[in-house]
Amino acid sequence: MPRVPCFCDFAQCGGALVNSQTFNHHKHHDSSKRFRDALTMATTACKSQDDAIAIHLASLSISDHLNDPIVMQSVTANTSSRHFGKSAEQKQVAELLYQLCNIETSLDNLITFVDGKLGSI
Ligand SMILES: [Zn+2]
Repeated sequence: MPRVPCFCDFAQCGGALVNSQTFNHHKHHDSSKRFRDALTMATTACKSQDDAIAIHLASLSISDHLNDPIVMQSVTANTSSRHFGKSAEQKQVAELLYQLCNIETSLDNLITFVDGKLGSI
């Protein structure tokens, strides 16, 4: 049986001559380990991206846009000029967005109120 030099990480043969069956066995272990390592790194990278996206989304709120003059101009225009230039769907979206802003503000007020009450218990 021919003998081939093996430089595997699995058994750390260091170039020792091994038979082809042993060589393939070591090569298979190294390939499996590289695959598992790559999968772990990919999973970690994806988790990190998911966390970053979640943190970014959590930092966003509709009411943040109330301080943006361009957004507010658009919302105000869409909610106040119901008959000029916008489709019914655009108007409905703008009105719902405005209502969501109001709901979010009310929810923030409620959370602040409840936090104050819970703090006094
Ligand atoms: Zn080996």
